[in-house]
Amino acid sequence: MERIKKGALWVFCEVQANELLPVGLQLLGRGKTLAEESNRPLYAVVLGKIPQESVKLLHASGADEVIMSVGAALEEKLEKPYADSLIALAKQFEPDILLVGATPFGRAFAPRVAAALQTGLTADCTELSIEEESGLLLQTRPAFGGNMMATIRTATSRPQMATARPGVLPLPEPMEVEDRDPVIIEDNGELSVVKLLKETAIERGADISQSKIIVAAGRGIGQKKNLKLVQALADKLGGAVGSTRPLVDMGFCPYSSQIGQTGYSVAPDLLICCGISGAVQHLAGIGGAKTVIAINTDPKAPIFAVADYKIVGDCVSVLENLIKALD
Ligand SMILES: Cc1cc2nc3c(=O)[nH]c(=O)nc-3n(C[C@H](O)[C@H](O)[C@H](O)COP(=O)(O)OP(=O)(O)OC[C@H]3O[C@@H](n4cnc5c(N)ncnc54)[C@H](O)[C@@H]3O)c2cc1C
Repeated sequence: MERIKKGALWVFCEVQANELLPVGLQLLGRGKTLAEESNRPLYAVVLGKIPQESVKLLHASGADEVIMSVGAALEEKLEKPYADSLIALAKQFEPDILLVGATPFGRAFAPRVAAALQTGLTADCTELSIEEESGLLLQTRPAFGGNMMATIRTATSRPQMATARPGVLPLPEPMEVEDRDPVIIEDNGELSVVKLLKETAIERGADISQSKIIVAAGRGIGQKKNLKLVQALADKLGGAVGSTRPLVDMGFCPYSSQIGQTGYSVAPDLLICCGISGAVQHLAGIGGAKTVIAINTDPKAPIFAVADYKIVGDCVSVLENLIKALD
């Protein structure tokens, strides 16, 4: 057990259908920088057994060690035994920082862990950094309906806990690493009284938080029928369709396409914004986009402040022309 040091930075890495979810790797990528800046070791924590190739991917993504808790209670992914196991690990090894992906499971499970450890939890961070003087974790997230960004510190209680949504942070480039065993901890937690009878995947289209190319529509698209043009351009570019919240509220687009504070965070290589004003709540979800092209009739639209390429004009005719040019 001497491989595990106290005061480390831990990233809980969630597994679904035997695959590591990308958000854990994204947190490891940022965790590596945070760990280096604050001189802490970086550990990936998984609950339940994962294959050796997944252990290697965690090392390749920056983890100095992989802690794998195994036991009968962890054979099904249920909040209570998972939380109990992480609480027991945290009590034993006293991490200084604990990061969790804000997936539906993470959102339900992380508060249980924080409450049991009597520490705080900053949910849905869009930025994580280290305060130079104190070495404390700076946890930044939108506040007051997204009208301002708040940076929160957990000054006294430990661990400092934060969640970040999938897609907010970039995936790290895997490094070349030697194959190393995880540190296996036996979990003696109680079996859950809840039984998982069946898991059913919900058909919700492409996961825009993982899309490399997104063509997104806002209210400026006008009529619902014009969304066919957005879909056509996305298809031509091999990308997905995104939208603003009003289009979801109007029933033009499914929630799975909504980008922003109350939708998905995206980090595509290319984002084309069609008739989107650029409200703060929408911009909260596009901070990870590498190249942004905005099309808007209003040259003063706030979206242009974050755009690399600006097209002042009617998005319907610009879309038609772009599709024609790609034919
Ligand atoms: C608590 C809270 C959470 C929210 N969460 C989200 C969220 O997650 N995601 C989100 O998107 N919003 C969210 N909102 C709503 C947000 O405040 C904005 O209202 C919304 O983003 C605006 O969407 P829009 O850009 O499509 O529409 P508008 O703001 O109405 O903008 C339409 C734009 O289209 C332009 N335009 C008009 N005609 C054309 C044309 N023919 N060609 C090109 N451009 C044209 C206009 O100049 C304008 O800039 C939230 C709001 C609150 C209060």
